Amino acid sequence: MKRMTVKDRVTTAWPVEITSPPIAPTPIPKAGRSAIAEIVASELEAIRKFDPHQPRDPAGKWSLVNAVEDLLDGGGKADKLNLDGLGPFALTGARVRASDRYRSPNGSTAMMALTDTHGKRELRLGIVSPDDERKWSGSNLGSTVVLDDPGITHLRSSLAKLHEDHQEEADAIEALVEDIDAFNGFEPGAQLSPRQQAMVDQYWQMADGGVMKQGTLASGQWGELRYLIRGNDTDGVDTFVAVRPTSAPANWTLQDSLTRENALAFDDADGIGKFLDRLDGLTGHGTAGRSATRRFDPDQPRGPDGKWSLTGAIRHALAEAGDVDALNQAASAEAKRITGRDTHFDFTGCDVQIGREHAEGVLRGLERFPKTKLTRVSTFGRGGAEDIGQHGDAYAVTTATHGRELGSSEIHFNAGWASQPDTYRAYLAGTHSQGWGVSADPQGVALHEFGHAVDFFTEGQASGAAGLRMRNSGGSSAAASSVSHYAATNGGELTAEAFADVMLNGDGASELSKELFGLMQTHYDEMARRARGRAVVPS
Ligand SMILES: [Zn+2]
Repeated sequence: MKRMTVKDRVTTAWPVEITSPPIAPTPIPKAGRSAIAEIVASELEAIRKFDPHQPRDPAGKWSLVNAVEDLLDGGGKADKLNLDGLGPFALTGARVRASDRYRSPNGSTAMMALTDTHGKRELRLGIVSPDDERKWSGSNLGSTVVLDDPGITHLRSSLAKLHEDHQEEADAIEALVEDIDAFNGFEPGAQLSPRQQAMVDQYWQMADGGVMKQGTLASGQWGELRYLIRGNDTDGVDTFVAVRPTSAPANWTLQDSLTRENALAFDDADGIGKFLDRLDGLTGHGTAGRSATRRFDPDQPRGPDGKWSLTGAIRHALAEAGDVDALNQAASAEAKRITGRDTHFDFTGCDVQIGREHAEGVLRGLERFPKTKLTRVSTFGRGGAEDIGQHGDAYAVTTATHGRELGSSEIHFNAGWASQPDTYRAYLAGTHSQGWGVSADPQGVALHEFGHAVDFFTEGQASGAAGLRMRNSGGSSAAASSVSHYAATNGGELTAEAFADVMLNGDGASELSKELFGLMQTHYDEMARRARGRAVVPS
């Protein structure tokens, strides 16, 4: 694998001399501005608001399905298990609107009944051995929980996360096996260094059923749904889901009380996805409602009212920040929430709204690629937070800081631009309309820079490939015509522009951008997997 030089590498969003780009930026004429204002107004009218508690579809995206109505009629599903009217339900006045079961591949069955008790929707979910399916009647016998509406939503997002976690842990153990194979660590009598021996020990601990992850999926009446991911002796992992009854002793653990009889058991992530699909079918989030579902990215920004919006609006936490200090704090807190790491934000010298838009772009990047080692976001230039050398009129600069930590980077925005919102916006919109850059606004600039940060994290693999492509005949003009003129500068800028294109335009991005984004994703996954593989070895 190519290793970057330790010397800091610098890259800019735009040519250092923005005053003389190949295509001269033209101020937007007055008529053009009002046309833009009209478009903006109609866009705003078209904004559909979404509740922050809105459910996700099985792909993890926010969905438009009306949970309330669909829950009441069971999403059109029938009471398949014929539970309505059974004692334990009837006694509490609960009508069973829909019921279904899911048989896990290696363990027990999830019995599910969606009920309506005097207008209150609930899900009774019991985990029983396949032999006991017919005996389940939704009563409190230690293996059933009752979830209210928010509990159901919580369970759905927890299961989507569990699906990811299972895959991640499976990848981690696979990476460890590969690493050990590379030094023949499994060969009998192999001479191993202490570090290699630690890796082998770590492997056997996992393979012996070592717990890799555990927690609670959802809490409700009568108990909680707990999960556990542990290694197995076939170089894979198993995930278990079981009920911890409220009456359980304080020292109860799933690991200790686990049997194939009392837990759903999965040896691959697909099974977890199927369980979620079945739950969705029951609660009206599945195929029945899918045709009416509009898809939104899980990292979709929020409007000022805190609801999910269709535009590049600013999330509530940032919109609330009234000055630069509050914005720095809010952005750092959001980054911490997303990545679990500390990222320093310093928007000194920025117009607050421009700062919010820059922060939103960076956070969207982090939400999509949370392991990217971005350590610092700040400002430079006139009135900025720091002096990072001469970068003239560049909108922003991303510096690789490999000298401190391999793959790490910092993003710096030019306070000279960021302090003059009208001029900045006019230049961005004007140059974008001439095909110069993918981004038409400050958030787009931030996403472009984040593209460089991802590239640095992957040690320049994506830009290396993009650069090769550019040097092929016609590569440069293809970049210019299908991505942007600025993308034709070099492999690094092509990568950053392609990244911004996909982040801003999704499926509407150019084919070249989507291809390069896919490449970045592959390299990112590889780096993240390696980082994880290393992380499980005691140091
Ligand atoms: Zn750039």
